[in-house]
This record gives sequence, structure tokens and C-alpha cells, in this order.
Amino acid sequence: MKKVDYIIVGFGIAGLCTAAQLRSRGCSVVVIDSRKQSATSISGGTIHPVLLRYYNKVWLGEEFWAYAKGFYTTLENQLETSFIEIKELMRPFDSNQERILWQNRRTEAFWAHYLNPLDDSSTKFSGIRTPHGYGTSDEVWRFSPPKLLMAFKKMLQKEQNWIDAEIIAQTIDQLRDEIRTLKIDAKHIVLAQGHNQLIWPKSGRKDNLIALEAGYSPIVAKEGEYMIIESPELKLDVVLKGKFFIIPLGRDKYQVGATYKQDVNVAGEDLGRKKMKEALDELLTVPYKPLSYWTGTRPVTKDRKPILGLMSNEASLYTINGLNSRGLLMAPLLSDWLVAFMIDGKALPAEVSINRFTVSSVDHI
Ligand SMILES: Cc1cc2nc3c(=O)[nH]c(=O)nc-3n(C[C@H](O)[C@H](O)[C@H](O)COP(=O)(O)OP(=O)(O)OC[C@H]3O[C@@H](n4cnc5c(N)ncnc54)[C@H](O)[C@@H]3O)c2cc1C
Repeated sequence: MKKVDYIIVGFGIAGLCTAAQLRSRGCSVVVIDSRKQSATSISGGTIHPVLLRYYNKVWLGEEFWAYAKGFYTTLENQLETSFIEIKELMRPFDSNQERILWQNRRTEAFWAHYLNPLDDSSTKFSGIRTPHGYGTSDEVWRFSPPKLLMAFKKMLQKEQNWIDAEIIAQTIDQLRDEIRTLKIDAKHIVLAQGHNQLIWPKSGRKDNLIALEAGYSPIVAKEGEYMIIESPELKLDVVLKGKFFIIPLGRDKYQVGATYKQDVNVAGEDLGRKKMKEALDELLTVPYKPLSYWTGTRPVTKDRKPILGLMSNEASLYTINGLNSRGLLMAPLLSDWLVAFMIDGKALPAEVSINRFTVSSVDHI
């Protein structure tokens, strides 16, 4: 039986970043993944610290953003694979008021850093209607999640630290048994299963450090969808943020979205798809052809904050989950916090700790 320091169940961005952090601390790690469903592989891959359109800051956006840039750049070098593809965004203004808002925001130091000075007299972006002008930002990255996942997985496979398997377990005992059948054992286990995670601490179990209500999951699944289009005349090479993102994928293909998946209306139309189409018709002056739709599921908590921490002291079982709509932005720093908690015993920020869901609060390890 192979024995390692950590087994990670789930290889979305949460599992990948946790594996990278543990490896950088010299720990041995095996990753188990079912390839069942990954929010990460279909996600837009955009990371940025502000919400354009509303001109709000993302929660802890500057910290997550600064950390993520360094983390992904280092990973590109380690994996010898370039997956960071775009470092510019354009925002066609909805109205003249938005144009004025952009300029006003730029008088504050924070926003002056993220929003470039207005320079939209030229028709640099053809095929796009910009009656009120547009702004640009260099503080937005787009990377290819499939390229990153693939490169990291290949490395793990080469080292025989990758297992293709679905762990079917609803209790910690079943989890241990399932893992044993794979002829692998570890001192610690980290669950990073996104919305598919079934194991959560239950009250009344003495081995559980924290006590959630029996059968309770803090994660709600929120589906989102992208439309993939083809448009040879739209020569867009930056990320566009209109009502939806338009993300260049290369070879005249673009990823448009994402929706928070809507119900169908009485006429049987999918409202999310309808909205994406309407937005494109309004924005583009060139033809486009819808090719396909990609659906993924965001793991969301009630307070929309991530959920990290220790689930069972006895089983040394941890989790990193609840990454919601910004997993790619947040996972590098969140995994750093989790690893510092697991290895150094450093307390997790209360806002992300699993202990905020407990019915009785108890001490850490
Ligand atoms: C449409 C859409 C667009 C998005 N766009 C962005 C974006 O542009 N930028 C951004 O920052 N965030 C974006 N997000 C959010 C981001 O994708 C998520 O926050 C993030 O991917 C969640 O990562 P995760 O690792 O927690 O879960 P996942 O990516 O879902 O990974 C979980 C993994 O666990 C595995 N697994 C689950 N159960 C088992 C089991 N029993 N046994 C073995 N393996 C198992 C699954 O196969 C999967 O690979 C988007 C999300 C959606 C849905």
C-alpha cells in the first residue's frame, strides 16, 4: 500500500491549488478525481479584483488578485506550460453616465490603478457597438482552465500521484474504506469536491471537532451556462465585459456568458440563453453563429463565502469548498491559508472557517 502525507479528493481549482501548495512545502500528495463534473474546466478563467458595470470591489479582491497573479505565474514556470492567455479587458459603456463614472472613479487611488485613462477615440475594436465609448483595464487576466488542469494532471500522472476514481462515500468510515480499496493511504485527507461533496460533519459524533446538524450540507449548487459562438469577423483579442463576458478562445471562437441558469418561460425558451443572444445582437455589428452551450455548477454557501477547515480531528479530514463564482481568483490564497492551518496550526480567517457553521464552537487542533 502506497503511503503519502495528503490525499486530495477532487481536482478542480480548489484541489489543484491545495496540491500545489502542499507540494511546495515538501509534502507528498496523491489526487483522486472522478472527472464527473468540474466547474473549473468550463469556467471563464477570468480573474480580476473589481466588478465592472457596478464598479464595486470584490470581497478581499486586492489580496486575492495580488496573490493569484504571483501564484499562476510561478505555476506556469513550474509546469513549463503557458496558460495565461490574455491580460486586457475592454468595457463598452452602457451610457454616458457610466463614462463619467469611470472618470470619477479614477480620481481615487484604488480605481486609478485598475481602470486605464480613457482613450477610446480610435476604432481599435471593430465589430462592436460603442456609442458611449469604452474603457480598458490591464488588471484583468484570462487563463485557460483546461490547459492548467491538464498540465498539472500530466505531472501528477508521470509521478504516479494521480488516481482516476470516483469515491462513493457518505460517511468518514466509508471514505477511508473506499480509499483503502485504491491501495493508498495518507495521514491527512482534503475534500475539494465542489458541489458534489456529500461528507460534512454531523452532530453527535465524538470524532468530529465541529458539529453541524446531521445531514446538513452548507453547499448549494448554482448552475451557470456559457454559449460558444463562432464569428470570423469579430477580431477580438481581449476579454470584453458587456452584459456578459465575451472571451476569445482562438480560431474565431468565443465563450459568451456566464448565466446564473434560469428557468424556461411559458413559451419554452431558456431565459439565460435568450438574454445572452439579446446581449450579443445588441452589441455586435458582425454576424456570429452559436455552436454549443457549456454548463457548470458553482458551489455556493449561504453567506457566499468559501468554507475551509477541519472536519474531523480523528480522521484528520479537511475541506476547501464554497468557491462560488470566483474560485479561480480566490483558490490560490485560500489554499495557502488552508495549508498554513493544516501544517503550522495558523488560525483561519473567521469569515472562511467552517466553524462559522457550527452549532457549538470548539477549539482548533
Ligand atoms: C459557468 C461558470 C463560469 C465561471 N467563471 C469563472 C471565472 O471566470 N472566474 C472565476 O474565478 N470563477 C469562475 N467560476 C467559478 C469557478 O468555476 C468555481 O468557483 C470553481 O471552479 C470551483 O472549484 P472547485 O475546485 O471547488 O470545484 P470543481 O471545479 O467542481 O471541482 C470539483 C472536482 O471534484 C471531483 N469530484 C467530486 N466528487 C467526487 C468524488 N466523489 N470522487 C472523486 N472526485 C470527485 C469532480 O470530478 C471535480 O473535478 C465559474 C463558474 C461557473 C459555473
